[in-house]
Amino acid sequence: MRPEILYPLFAPITTLPGVGPRLAKLFESLAGPQVVDLCWHLPSGLIDRRYAPKLSEAMAGKVATLTVRVGEHRAPHNPRQPYKVRCFDDSGELDLVFFHVKGDYLARVLPVGEVRVVSGKVEVFNNALQITHPDHIGGLEELAQLKTVEPVYPLTTGLSLKMVGKAVRGALAQTSELPEWQDPALRQRENWPAWHESLLAAHAPQDEADLSPLTPPRRRLAYDELLANQLTLALVRAQQRRKPGRATTGDGRLRAAVVRALPFALTGSQEQALAEITADMAGGARMLRLLQGDVGSGKTVVALLAMAAAVEAGAQAALMAPTEILARQHLKTIKPLAEAAGMTVELLTGRDKGKAREALLARVAEGGVDILLGTHAIFQEDVAFKDLVLAVIDEQHRFGVHQRLNLTAKGRGVDVLVMTATPIPRTLVLTSYGDMEVSRLTEKPAGRQPVDTRALSMERAGEVVDGVGRALEAGAKVYWVCPLVEESESVDLAAAEARHADLKARFGERVGLVHGRLKGKEKDAVMQAFAEGGIDLLVATTVIEVGVDVPQATVMVIEHAERFGLAQLHQLRGRIGRGSGRSTCLLLYQGPLGETARARIRIMRETDDGFRIAEEDLRLRGAGELLGTRQSGFPEFRLADLAVHDDLLAIARDDARLILERDPELESERGAALRVLLYLFERDAAVKYLRSG
Ligand code: ADP
Ligand code: MG
Repeated sequence: MRPEILYPLFAPITTLPGVGPRLAKLFESLAGPQVVDLCWHLPSGLIDRRYAPKLSEAMAGKVATLTVRVGEHRAPHNPRQPYKVRCFDDSGELDLVFFHVKGDYLARVLPVGEVRVVSGKVEVFNNALQITHPDHIGGLEELAQLKTVEPVYPLTTGLSLKMVGKAVRGALAQTSELPEWQDPALRQRENWPAWHESLLAAHAPQDEADLSPLTPPRRRLAYDELLANQLTLALVRAQQRRKPGRATTGDGRLRAAVVRALPFALTGSQEQALAEITADMAGGARMLRLLQGDVGSGKTVVALLAMAAAVEAGAQAALMAPTEILARQHLKTIKPLAEAAGMTVELLTGRDKGKAREALLARVAEGGVDILLGTHAIFQEDVAFKDLVLAVIDEQHRFGVHQRLNLTAKGRGVDVLVMTATPIPRTLVLTSYGDMEVSRLTEKPAGRQPVDTRALSMERAGEVVDGVGRALEAGAKVYWVCPLVEESESVDLAAAEARHADLKARFGERVGLVHGRLKGKEKDAVMQAFAEGGIDLLVATTVIEVGVDVPQATVMVIEHAERFGLAQLHQLRGRIGRGSGRSTCLLLYQGPLGETARARIRIMRETDDGFRIAEEDLRLRGAGELLGTRQSGFPEFRLADLAVHDDLLAIARDDARLILERDPELESERGAALRVLLYLFERDAAVKYLRSG
């Protein structure tokens, strides 16, 4: 249950002054539905209204707060002309200028003969001092309140700064000091104010420097958020650890047989990752390990060998892929190798129905299937294993944590290996997996050649098409990638279709098209034709991003490369350069390029090290955008920015670990405060893991 002290923060925004039902929608999309969301809506700028000169001394171009007496109102004859209110002080005159504003309203707020405080940008027009549409008009008693630095907030269409400022002030008025959850030593070392003071300070910048995410109040708030994140992960983890694991040790027989069947030797990275995995499996605790490796680094073989170790121990293993294409691809790679070693492998996807499915499930339940590959169909309730000990999950960021846990429920003490081809920077690994063990495949399999990457302006698309023609003549297989931007899927699809028609007119039936709207079967058929013959030039939207393996493909054209993120470009490019042939990637861009797009393209040309690319991407864009947060399953932070607060993340991880070591149920005084922190950041689910939660 949420602590009472937080109730005001979790009231709906409609309880705030000026937020009626109509505006609530706008506020909700701007910040969120609750009062606390507006508290997290930090200023992005400021307006200094402290400049308060006499009229004779007021400088044009500056924002000023002026105390004046209202003189004459001059309504225009022509409504397109502005309404002017002449004001003065003992040193000079000032015109307040209004367009499309009703005179009776102005007569009310600027009564003739009264003293008023007005604030806005001072201009000189026809030698006369004026302010057009003052930001504020108030009585003399409001001078002190107006003559301050006003925070500027990110806005959205339909919400003015005045409206947002007022709502945020209302939200802040709902806040009060919360019990301190920070370690006093850390607070002192970092010079952090208490929570409430930090929040108020973050909303009250006095100068540009105060807007930096590196000020003590901003860092404290960021740390609070990261600590809530890390504590949540640590709690989930502790909960996992409490469940008994199993020690799975094989005799190495099947692994040796698989290795003998491989047409290549394992890389050092693969050997090492495998050793780490099998050591975890042999240990009594449950394994929760992430296998990170660039596209083509050879994760599948490592997974197969780990699964072989499970089968050696007389148990079963499952491997789950995010899409049908990938599941089938795994089947193609794994089945012959596994069968050569004497293991049985089957595939279960959403397409399996009826009798055949029942028969397969029966065999899985009896232990007649050693390794079950599949899509999320493996999660279905009626899928039961005889003895599942290892679950391998490929391309994890497409699955939720929830699903990951679902699969582990299908066995006793199931070890989990998560594979990802997204080279997530260490910082991001921490935020989504906490202190999950990580194995990294850093070496490329022998014989791979780096991809020759070039950038060309769209104006040269004609030359590129000619080049593609020559490559096709020489027997190459070519990808032509068109961007797909979520907001306008149909428009982008139309662009891909147009490009397809275009290339087809030139190169004929050997040109294929694959995109996300195709049904699974249709998609598979196109991919298969590309892999096995019939199609040599494949126009594709980003559906090819994930793991499809056509080693003969050696050319990739990426249209509108400037629209892709760095990680995505890297993923795409990873589709080529997988065989022994020399590969070329052409980044076609529409100029003029912004600074970030330029940097991305430069980095793509410089390196094909996925980990370096991921770090650069994080630096260029910040974590929020890195993987397209929504689909990626990575947490979004409101106050922390991993590009600048990454040092805090490591501290938060250690802090969380220590907290749970000392006070696993959060029962101490600090523990109670930490519970408030978890609720404050809406980690209510995490609190449930506590015995007295
Ligand atoms: P990933 O899943 O990491 O993208 P895969 O496991 O699909 O990569 O491997 C990509 C290709 O490299 C496959 O064709 C695989 O057979 C091959 N491969 C894997 N390991 C090696 C190795 N050590 N030496 C040479 N080729 C390898
Ligand atoms: Mg793979």
